Amino acid sequence: MVSRVIPVEDFDLVIFGGTGDLARRKILPGLFRRFLSGQMPSTSRVIGAARSDLDSDGYRAMIREAIDEFGGDEKSETAKLDAFLAQLDYVPIDAMGTGGWSDLSKLMRDGVVKAFYFSVAPSLFGPLAERLHDHGIAGPDSRIVVEKPFGRDLASAHELNATLAEHFDERQIYRIDHYLGKETVQNLMAVRFGNVLFEPLWNNHYVDHIQITVAETVGVGGRGAYYDRSGAMRDMVQNHLMQLLCLIAMEPPSEFEADAVRDEKLKVIRALQPVEPHHIVRGQYQAGPETASYREDAENERSFTESFIAMRTEIANWRWAGVPFYMRTGKRLRARTSEITVVFKDLGHSIFKDDGVAHHNILSIRLQPNEGIDLQMTIKEPGPGGMRLVDVPLDLTFAEALGDTVEDVADAYERLIMDVIRGNQTLFMRGDEVEAAWAWTDPLIEGWTARNDVPKTYETGSAGPEDALMLMHRDGRRWRDIKA
Ligand code: NAP
Repeated sequence: MVSRVIPVEDFDLVIFGGTGDLARRKILPGLFRRFLSGQMPSTSRVIGAARSDLDSDGYRAMIREAIDEFGGDEKSETAKLDAFLAQLDYVPIDAMGTGGWSDLSKLMRDGVVKAFYFSVAPSLFGPLAERLHDHGIAGPDSRIVVEKPFGRDLASAHELNATLAEHFDERQIYRIDHYLGKETVQNLMAVRFGNVLFEPLWNNHYVDHIQITVAETVGVGGRGAYYDRSGAMRDMVQNHLMQLLCLIAMEPPSEFEADAVRDEKLKVIRALQPVEPHHIVRGQYQAGPETASYREDAENERSFTESFIAMRTEIANWRWAGVPFYMRTGKRLRARTSEITVVFKDLGHSIFKDDGVAHHNILSIRLQPNEGIDLQMTIKEPGPGGMRLVDVPLDLTFAEALGDTVEDVADAYERLIMDVIRGNQTLFMRGDEVEAAWAWTDPLIEGWTARNDVPKTYETGSAGPEDALMLMHRDGRRWRDIKA
């Protein structure tokens, strides 16, 4: 069984920052895969734009190298790569300057979807929006794609929204959170809203608590200075983890449509409770046998920025009142894994008198690695010796269950770019959603800043600071193991 690929409409996609890391590592290799799958029309154009003094041939050579370095198995398809590169152009443009815009304008065609990917620093979003508008390059149907970070607090996010709104309607703005483009994240919605099994149990009567873990093994080396100004809260929680929390907690939208889904996510964010100081644990990794400490990586011996954060929050609505949501994310942890876990309550009464162990059903949704879902069930331990119970996983690893169909699964960036061309905003954050997320985040950051909170240290390769384990233990619960 092979997945059906429906080509998108013909498009011109301009990538500002087309020579940058994100463009070379993710956007262009992703587009090449969409080209190979037949989803990208052979007439579509991709135009790189940045200050570097390149011509289109020079840009094609750069992207050939990038696909060679960052592409997967598909990079060996030389003839097809040539055909893909022939669809690329390049225009030297300084986002702050006046040159190059008429060249760009000449390259753009009428009658096709026009999209502009702002893969540049957020300080350039405003100047780009203004110039695209002033030079008549973007019209009322054009789309712009903006990258995280979308602001660093409510005030800056609000200002950024206002700047973009001067030239573009909300329906034209695609704020990327690449977590939303992951296959399993969408599966989370399919599992919740496509099965009768879970919805009746998806509430405070049956759910004991929910855990969201996004663990990384890498440190911040390379982008230490940038990271030190943001930290795990701004870099991961405010966007990726909160988006996951929204999808797991939101009410069923009336239909799977952009605003219906985003309205429901927004309600979750607005119902999020402030987090008590003793329900937040921040950490910084220590040096490992061959790796530097956080402070060395950040080149800031006095840094109080967190490379790890764990917290407990609650959602004040009828469905979730009283159910703790535990979130944690960090760098230099034991394994690279992203997982959402729904731990159901134990049975009020067990008929198996001798057992004495509390058995929980646990639904765990793995975003990476081995995307899939497993459901911990309680069964009888096989063999003689009476009725002994044992918990076993019903494991559904998608790659195994779906066989050939998963061969052409688009990665997050590919899927999201194709959604931009299709004009589907469901998996993109709306302006009010981003602002609501900052409105919840800001007081937490302000709180620990005012308290001069010093992050706890934790060992490289561990599960984070001891205090993070205690956060759960105090509630009589435990985190799931961080394992690959
Ligand atoms: P980068 O490697 O520093 O690239 C920046 C790009 O912007 C380059 O192509 C640069 O080219 C161009 N540029 C800089 N100043 C410009 C100007 N005045 N006018 C026109 N172009 C200009 O950054 P990146 O890692 O690709 O990140 C791009 C954006 O995506 C950032 O907002 C970042 O936070 C976000 N992001 C990146 C990643 C990632 O994995 N890299 C992940 C999530 C979000 P020239 O120097 O030739 O002008």
